Amino acid sequence: MEKKQFQAESKRLLDMMIHSIYTQKEIFLRELISNASDAIDKIYYLALTDSNLTFDKDSYYIQITADKENRTLTIRDTGIGMTQEEMENNLGVIAKSGSLAFKKENESKDGHDIIGQFGVGFYSAFMVADVVTVVSKSLTGGQAYKWESAGADGYTIEPWEKDAVGTEITLKIKANTEDESYDEFLEEYRLKAIIKKYSDFIRYPIKMNVTSRRPKEGSENEYEDFTEEQRVNSMVPIWRKNKNELTNEDYESFYNEKRYGFDKPLKHLHLHVDGAVVYQAILYIPENTPFDFYTKEYEKGLELYANGVLIMNKCGDLLPDHFSFVKGMVDSESLSLNISREMLQHDRQLKLIAKNIASKIKSALQSLLKDERENYEQFYKSFGRQLKFGVYNDYGANKEALQDLLLFTSSKEKKLVTLDEYVSRMPEEQKYIYYATGETNERIEKLPQTELVADKGYEILYFTDDIDEFAIKMLMAYKDKEFRSVSSGDLGIEEENKQEDEELAKANADLFDYMKSQLSGKVSNVRASKRLRSHPVCLTSQGEVSIEMEKILRAMPN
Ligand code: ADP
Ligand code: MG
Repeated sequence: MEKKQFQAESKRLLDMMIHSIYTQKEIFLRELISNASDAIDKIYYLALTDSNLTFDKDSYYIQITADKENRTLTIRDTGIGMTQEEMENNLGVIAKSGSLAFKKENESKDGHDIIGQFGVGFYSAFMVADVVTVVSKSLTGGQAYKWESAGADGYTIEPWEKDAVGTEITLKIKANTEDESYDEFLEEYRLKAIIKKYSDFIRYPIKMNVTSRRPKEGSENEYEDFTEEQRVNSMVPIWRKNKNELTNEDYESFYNEKRYGFDKPLKHLHLHVDGAVVYQAILYIPENTPFDFYTKEYEKGLELYANGVLIMNKCGDLLPDHFSFVKGMVDSESLSLNISREMLQHDRQLKLIAKNIASKIKSALQSLLKDERENYEQFYKSFGRQLKFGVYNDYGANKEALQDLLLFTSSKEKKLVTLDEYVSRMPEEQKYIYYATGETNERIEKLPQTELVADKGYEILYFTDDIDEFAIKMLMAYKDKEFRSVSSGDLGIEEENKQEDEELAKANADLFDYMKSQLSGKVSNVRASKRLRSHPVCLTSQGEVSIEMEKILRAMPN
């Protein structure tokens, strides 16, 4: 029998996995059960279109068997199975270089978490097993095969006996070492707990022999052990469950299991909507910015299920761009199963759901801002920029929805404030909402242009993000108060004294003319100013485009 080599990439990845995910060993079971469920799903999908196939729910299940004596754990499914070729292709090639590249990029961060949550799939079995044996018979008929591997140095495939279609994966569980115990993966109660934790909503029964104690028949104080096969998963998807039955942890493990992110979600929303449209959804506001969030590669979207069946991994139409950071899923009975991508675009139900979801997210963010300020600020650090883009895009079409969610650092205590907070403490005579633009708060503080406004005791918003001023231009005003840059020509504060101004201009006319000629082409005018306190000179702009915006516009590729 010929021994085949894993592909080079596979070898590297396998090594890396086996040696770096010890903290999360238990996830191997989640992976194998997910694969088993996928395999059954495949038959289910085929049966939808193939009239020769019937899908009788009772004959499809996943069975877990632990054999302590032989130290084996078997995961058997009645799914679609694999042909010899499929075994070679699917079990002999591990990850595409894309995953490897991703992991390399993230090597500096906590590698354990990233690999653990990024989906290690079938090969995670090698974290707990010395030898993995897969016996499978494909639905397409023909000979059954046995695939076997002891890890990085390759695998064997040979014809094998198996009557029923499906797959049986047997793990030879590792012996305990000085600092690692593997016995737990042969313990009923432990296996049961792992299944509950990760695979509770798998739609097919996960069966296992469970031993319990009962009083011996005809005896009062004698007990006996008896073993019976039980279904250990509840099968009901988490989103179909009642909110009251679920804990924060349940939502967090769903988030991890679904690989929505590598972080912990800041907030979740569980929606059961029963109105013009019927849907359930679990939505998450993540804590941290995904590494590709502000790049073109980032794809927004929610998982879309029709009646419990996943039809789209990332349905972008369900989320407006300004909420593209939201993760989660939607399940609706109102959508038809044979829905296609093109039809989705124009699906009225889908549009209604999307609209509904957007307003729920908005209120969730508002309540986060109101009730959990610290969490909101964390959220804003990660995704505030996206909200500002949202205000700016579509010519401010979303400004009503978003303006109250914006935060800016204010000169007052250098804290983040909402526009509402700013406006509500404006002195009566203050005409405008003042802002100053610069690279950092420290730099802005040193701007000569801020002096007069600060002297008046007015609060100044610090714009350090290049999108800030553009977004604010779209808002134009907040609660009837216009925004005004501290470097704009008219601050609405300078005390009017025409005569004095004219005298000053006349007395210095020669000097100003000389300066203008020296700076010709660079400035349009030179004049006396009353806004300076400790600085001799400052630049201001006239018209809508500020000096800072000009800089950004000029830096943009044409
Ligand atoms: P993923 O599940 O992300 O595709 P895995 O490494 O978990 O990656 O599995 C690789 C492939 O092996 C699967 O896509 C599937 O084609 C095949 N496979 C694994 N387990 C089974 C199984 N129990 N029945 C049928 N095919 C399987
Ligand atoms: Mg898998």
